[in-house]
Amino acid sequence: MAAENRDVVVIGAGHAGLAVSHELSVAGVDHVILERAAAVASAWAGRWDSFTLVLPNHTIQLPGRLYGGDDPHGFLARDDVVALLREYADSFAAPVRTGVEVTSLRPRPDTRLELRTAAGDSMVARAVVVATGAYQRLRRPAWVADVPDAVRVLEVGEYRNPGALPEGTILVVGSGQSGCQVAEDLVLAGRSVVLACGRSTWSPRRVGGQDFVDWLILVGFMDTKSDQLPDPRMRLFGGGQMTGRDGGHDLTTRTLRAAGVRLGGHLTGVEHGGARFAGDLRESVAWGDQRYAMLCGLIERRCGELGVTPPALPGPEPFVADELESLDLGEVGAIVLTTGFRPAYASWIEPADAFDEMGLPLQTDGASSVVPGLFFSGTPFLRSQSSALLRGAPDDAPVVAAGVLRHLAS
Ligand SMILES: Cc1cc2nc3c(=O)[nH]c(=O)nc-3n(C[C@H](O)[C@H](O)[C@H](O)COP(=O)(O)OP(=O)(O)OC[C@H]3O[C@@H](n4cnc5c(N)ncnc54)[C@H](O)[C@@H]3O)c2cc1C
Repeated sequence: MAAENRDVVVIGAGHAGLAVSHELSVAGVDHVILERAAAVASAWAGRWDSFTLVLPNHTIQLPGRLYGGDDPHGFLARDDVVALLREYADSFAAPVRTGVEVTSLRPRPDTRLELRTAAGDSMVARAVVVATGAYQRLRRPAWVADVPDAVRVLEVGEYRNPGALPEGTILVVGSGQSGCQVAEDLVLAGRSVVLACGRSTWSPRRVGGQDFVDWLILVGFMDTKSDQLPDPRMRLFGGGQMTGRDGGHDLTTRTLRAAGVRLGGHLTGVEHGGARFAGDLRESVAWGDQRYAMLCGLIERRCGELGVTPPALPGPEPFVADELESLDLGEVGAIVLTTGFRPAYASWIEPADAFDEMGLPLQTDGASSVVPGLFFSGTPFLRSQSSALLRGAPDDAPVVAAGVLRHLAS
């Protein structure tokens, strides 16, 4: 069968793909969005029932559609985020083709790009924008293979609500935003919960009468570029521990401990029917405290430079490390893995050297430095700290779309 020819293909109908599509539509560029799921915004739709945004609603900024609701400092719930993005797609008749998974993408000798789909179809395009999401492949620890069959193991994307899990203690592995929110969801429902903690940053939800995120925006932290980071590995650091649930409140290792969650350090292995922890909880919490102190220092310094009175920034409460050394998996009904994500672009996009050692694309302003005509959107630190967030779309999407237009004209 002959390959379908297109000028531009966008892969992924999350907010990043839709935002680029909006800009291409405004410029009158014919294009199609290929989306593997049955509908737009499937990544959000697949999150747990009590999920809310962590960043305030006013950070929902899509090209042509800034947040216009009556609760800019609130946090939209999962289904409202999904509805908003589906409405956005409808508002400019985004040309989405659902149920189409792209399984490979490679440059051809004639400089066009060839895509293949799971259904065996092929397409050829002059430009392709990859907007397949910031969260691609869960890091699956090796010890999962040793977990007894009686214990159900779920990836965070499979978690829905406490009632859907088997009886017994729930072991949540990973203490980033997702892990803390899932642990809170479970403990609020009266479940016995153990949280295996790694190194995570945290901050209070509000200081000086404002959301902490608003201070981070004010002082420019949310616009940090990758070359301003002390270590490139920080591009894949998760967001700080906090929640938007019930209007937003502090959610940290400390608040979870006070709510009755039992804590351990890194989970290092499973043997003889038990989980073993590294005994490093205190160091991990101290690491998070240092990161918080760094953010406080930045807020104080930049507020001084901006002539703004900085907020009073509370220091961390003392942390008593009554941590678990091990856990008998006989008491555990399920393990929820919230162990962080890694990019998976290089598993289906050629050539492999279009990506760096962390699997992120080598690019400038979203345009691949290796493959002409290949673009990315929604990638962590594509252009700044906000590139994988709703807030990054109005800055990034027009730049990526402009690059596509230049490529088509060249
Ligand atoms: C706990 C948590 C809280 C968060 N809170 C916020 C927040 O408050 N504010 C915020 O801005 N962000 C938040 N985020 C981050 C945000 O959810 C993501 O960064 C955002 O969804 C990324 O958008 P995207 O369009 O790049 O990718 P996605 O929304 O993941 O969309 C990518 C799309 O591509 C499709 N796709 C993938 N591969 C293929 C393929 N090969 N072929 C075809 N289609 C494909 C997927 O089905 C998906 O629909 C949060 C994330 C988490 C985990």
